[in-house]
Amino acid sequence: MPWANYHSHTYFCDGKYPPGHYAAEARRQGFAAYGFSSHAPLPFPCQWSMKPDALPRYMAEVQKAKQRYQGELQLYAGLEIDYIAGVTGPRNPLFQDIGLDYCVGSVHFVGRFADGTGWEIDGPHELFLRGLREIHGNNIRRAVEVYYEQIRRMIAEEPPDVVGHLDKIKMQNRHTPLFDENADWYQAAVLETLQAVAKAGLILEVNTRGLYKKRADETYPGHWALAQAHRLGIPVTLSSDAHHPREISGFFAQTAQMLREIGYQNVHVLLDGTWQAVSV
Ligand SMILES: [Zn+2]
Ligand SMILES: [Zn+2]
Repeated sequence: MPWANYHSHTYFCDGKYPPGHYAAEARRQGFAAYGFSSHAPLPFPCQWSMKPDALPRYMAEVQKAKQRYQGELQLYAGLEIDYIAGVTGPRNPLFQDIGLDYCVGSVHFVGRFADGTGWEIDGPHELFLRGLREIHGNNIRRAVEVYYEQIRRMIAEEPPDVVGHLDKIKMQNRHTPLFDENADWYQAAVLETLQAVAKAGLILEVNTRGLYKKRADETYPGHWALAQAHRLGIPVTLSSDAHHPREISGFFAQTAQMLREIGYQNVHVLLDGTWQAVSV
């Protein structure tokens, strides 16, 4: 299969380099296509998202890279857009008609602290534990269920092209075992969310970042969820969530192998301007 990656962060958000550096590495590795998905601006201060006034420069710089690599590598302009109910999401008017080729929709924030700041499911573990205590009364099951509820709301209300890192909240189990991923209630929440993805006809991202950053033992989502996704006929796309050019194909070979073992014959790639299946 031709390698491609549609989840990557540039120096416009919390990535390390300009778009052109990732493109150069993608071309060196013989990629068929490469997409940029810097964190979309948020309507409140945030360390890792793009500043609102940087969006036009981001789009212009990706456009410049597209021209630079024309005929050598297909490049695509995307954003990883947060869904926060009533605040922002993939259908935020700010991100329409600006020339995006696609978007990845992700839930990072689940509830707020008393001072109004959002609680991140993939932030530092101590901060996660504090939010769990202060926002969700230490009820991990409730917090995790609300996380999956938010993803389902995004799918229903503001469907993105690609659903980002579905079960990323499991990375918090790495330091303190907080919940059992084999528990009935947990699998029910994942399954209900996958059914929503299937019904909406969206593409599910298989994100390898937890593996090469050693924050998870499996991709987001993991083997069990992907087997369910396959059973439900959900198309998948393989992405690395790169924040550095050296990460653009991290764990791709192993993950492609896992997808084949699960039964996936295709992955979806954005090629020649359309999402299409290519053999994995
Ligand atoms: Zn993300
Ligand atoms: Zn990301």
